Amino acid sequence: MIDAQIEAPLRLGQPDELMVYLHIPFCSTRCGYCDFYSETDVGELRIAATLKAILREAEWYRAIYPKARFSSLYLGGGTPSLIPSKLLAPFLARLARLFAPATQGSMHSSTDEFEWSFEANPESLDPEKLSVLAESGVNRLSLGVQSFNDRFLRALDRQADSQMVQRALEEIQNNGRFELSLDLMTGLPDQSKDDVAADVQRLLNYRPEHLSLYSLTVERGTPLERRVQEGLVSLGAPSHRDSLWETATALLRRNGYQHYEISNFCLPGKHARHNSGYWQGRPYLGLGPGAVGTLPLAPLGPPGERVPASPPGERAVRIGNPGLREYLQATGVSGGLRPAHQLEYLSGQDLLLERFLLGLRTSGGVRIGACAAEFGVDEAALRTVVESWKGAVYLDRRSFAAGRVALRQGGRMLLDRLLPDLAVRLESLPNESGL
Ligand code: SF4
Repeated sequence: MIDAQIEAPLRLGQPDELMVYLHIPFCSTRCGYCDFYSETDVGELRIAATLKAILREAEWYRAIYPKARFSSLYLGGGTPSLIPSKLLAPFLARLARLFAPATQGSMHSSTDEFEWSFEANPESLDPEKLSVLAESGVNRLSLGVQSFNDRFLRALDRQADSQMVQRALEEIQNNGRFELSLDLMTGLPDQSKDDVAADVQRLLNYRPEHLSLYSLTVERGTPLERRVQEGLVSLGAPSHRDSLWETATALLRRNGYQHYEISNFCLPGKHARHNSGYWQGRPYLGLGPGAVGTLPLAPLGPPGERVPASPPGERAVRIGNPGLREYLQATGVSGGLRPAHQLEYLSGQDLLLERFLLGLRTSGGVRIGACAAEFGVDEAALRTVVESWKGAVYLDRRSFAAGRVALRQGGRMLLDRLLPDLAVRLESLPNESGL
């Protein structure tokens, strides 16, 4: 049932295609570097109640979007693999009925590939759970490895040791029904280039289709920050950390991996379609405690029509779900939006800037013509803005001539520093542009 009080003023639009992100906010323990939202010490009853509330929320959204094609479903966390198998099987079956293509009506052909990803940690995977996942339709596993070296796994407060990591990878290979994405870290305390090379070599033995590579950062309020401040841990000079990162990226490229986004690598054709959707500004539902979704608003009705108004000029809304306790109270009741949800309205200007901010992280960049048409700006004016931007020296000129704004590898790594100047220039686009 739709909560008309809150849903109607949102004036949600009806996109043809939607992605779904689903947040499972449970972890067995907290890793020292992590600032993601998750809860520990959660028993089976609480997990079951949360899954029930998530399904209620999923059904609520499904009723709002009866005709949408759902192109991907990503279960992230937290640690989705913490869900016990006996709860997991019925939960995934209900999700499949709601979102998988077979249930999406006649407008979808059987050739539509539905990417269904599931994040897992080594210590909470076993052959039985892998069978449940495969039989439910999950076709992509994202495994948090971070390192194959016990010294670094301990420094990160990871639950799994190197043997558990290896066992999980062997079990995934034995199952053989998943595309595999692995998370690896560089810049670990006292890590050398040889250590990085050894980790990458171990990873290459499994030939994953996809890899996310992160340089360890110190997030505020984490145990790692405290250890660094107290001098117990040192991450080394930035130049050393850069060289560790470059050691890993060079090895990956030499072994056939494409560096298609700042932190992501893949074998040819195996990019993450769900994440690529984020970078291309596609709309998505956010389900579960702490999840965030971004949905388009319907265009305004004709003057005088009694359409309850969202703020004028806004084109999309970002909906932030509350944390576990409030989520169970709010969403567990009706599935729908409640005052505990945070709404952030996004103007065309916000979305255009975000499109560049995210698109420029990727080797594919941003398509100028499509972007101009979508946001109602003059294509020539948009090209001029890009050419006058400080980051233009890093432009991939061949892509630009072919109608794309993409940066060469060196420019992508400097993106954070280059974006403020682009933001100012995009804001200067003529007002009649429809933003
Ligand atoms: S398992 Fe993942 S989400 Fe949980 S604390 Fe560790 S890094 Fe964070």
